[in-house]
Amino acid sequence: MIFAVEPDRIALPNSHFIGGEHVAGDGQIAVLSPSTGQVLGEIPIADAATVDRAVKAARAALAASNWGGIAPRERLRALCAWADLIEAEAETLAMLEAVCSSRPYWQVHEGDIRITAEQIRFFAEFADKEGGALAPVADSSFGYISDEPYGVVGAITPWNFPISMAGWKLGPALAAGNAVVIKPSEMTPYSTLYMAELSVRAGLPAGLINVVLGDGPVTGAAITGHAGIDKVSFTGSTRAGAAIMENIARTGIKPMTLELGGKSPVIVCADADLDLAADCIDRGITSNAGQVCVAGSRLIVARAIADALAEKVRERFGRHRPAHTLAVTAGYSPIISEKQLERIDSIVRAAVHQGGEVLCGGARFDHEGSYYQPTLVAGVTDTSPALREEIFGPVATFQTFDTDDEAMALAGHPTYGLCAGLFTRDLSRALRLTRRIEAGTVWVNRYGRSTDHILPTGGWKSSGLGKDLGREAYAANRRTKSVLIDL
Ligand code: NAD
Repeated sequence: MIFAVEPDRIALPNSHFIGGEHVAGDGQIAVLSPSTGQVLGEIPIADAATVDRAVKAARAALAASNWGGIAPRERLRALCAWADLIEAEAETLAMLEAVCSSRPYWQVHEGDIRITAEQIRFFAEFADKEGGALAPVADSSFGYISDEPYGVVGAITPWNFPISMAGWKLGPALAAGNAVVIKPSEMTPYSTLYMAELSVRAGLPAGLINVVLGDGPVTGAAITGHAGIDKVSFTGSTRAGAAIMENIARTGIKPMTLELGGKSPVIVCADADLDLAADCIDRGITSNAGQVCVAGSRLIVARAIADALAEKVRERFGRHRPAHTLAVTAGYSPIISEKQLERIDSIVRAAVHQGGEVLCGGARFDHEGSYYQPTLVAGVTDTSPALREEIFGPVATFQTFDTDDEAMALAGHPTYGLCAGLFTRDLSRALRLTRRIEAGTVWVNRYGRSTDHILPTGGWKSSGLGKDLGREAYAANRRTKSVLIDL
């Protein structure tokens, strides 16, 4: 195999990054390559004292730099310099991400990094454009609503898009004048550490971004339960989101943004462009091997075109070939761990046991590493975990409908409401059905996020609370104060 970068030439950091300095700790969690199963290194678990040190460093940086109070365009300039450096360092960042995650090197290099840098600039631009308001009060008083940074934001991110997720958290929090203590996933810690290092090199105050390494129960809980963390911003599973809410309720109330899991429907009407729909379905569930919160995992297809569409999807699914994430040409992603691959497989087997039919895939690839074939399962029962649970793998269920009402009944999920796809050439039907879909995002005749960063993203129901991206994400990092002065 030809590597874009030789895996053993990559130096992997394994210390926390606090107050602009590397802070060592005992290696306690092994970081693995999902492409080979090899252990790459070990990272420490930040305990409550280390998290406290990071929170104090964040507060000290805010006090010393007056980050939240300087001219907003100074914040903008500093953040844009950081975004430029992130792009300039794309090679190293992409290596650090691809070595331990499911993200192919070239996709990170050409995609995730550029998009993240642009999102940081996008948020930086709010710094001198969004603000408070004068309040219409009686002329015997003067009333205004000021908006101010929270102080220290605690951010926790998942493993599936480490750089992008760090950007979603750090961009708006810093632009809004906060400092951040961030914990990347224990499976993919390296790129976030390097992004923080780059922030200092770009001229951001040391201590504005502090990275603590560790797991959820110890480090994550220490962040969400710390009295000095003023706001929590989390992306991850609904299960962990619920645990965070519980911890926050127990340890002191604080605002939180939760971007959680999904089980998103893709509805294909009989009048749809079937090749377009099949291309989008393929990308929607095979990109990152389905390890995407917005994965289109429930296909809901008009009976009249069901066979034709299934054939087109099957043909596209069959084209994917596994590749090491550091391979010179991007290929199909590995599943993040053997444990997760086994979970995916067991859900597929359970669906078959309950009468489901595997239309294609349904097994791991015969290839080194944890690779699972793109899989289509028809005939699933309503209660099947394949239909109800977020699989977080390349598995889509296939159901059919005759009327729009039936399609809507199938599309609704009892708990999730992250996003949905709809394919039809009928504009009136598109608008009618879009209104009825219970989800934070609906894509019509496309599937997947665009680079329109102004569109907020976030789930309904158990898929989340609050928004990332868009104006909403900036606003979520500021708090308002109503001031009334009697004249
Ligand atoms: P996860 O919930 O297991 O872990 C996410 C992060 O939370 C990790 O850093 C982990 O260490 C930490 N964590 C776990 N338990 C915690 C706790 N009790 N307290 C504090 N922190 C805790 O999720 P994952 O497996 O890393 O990522 C996959 C999940 O993320 C999927 O459910 C996916 O849908 C979701 N996700 C959602 C979005 C979105 O925008 N809605 C984006 C990406 C991923």
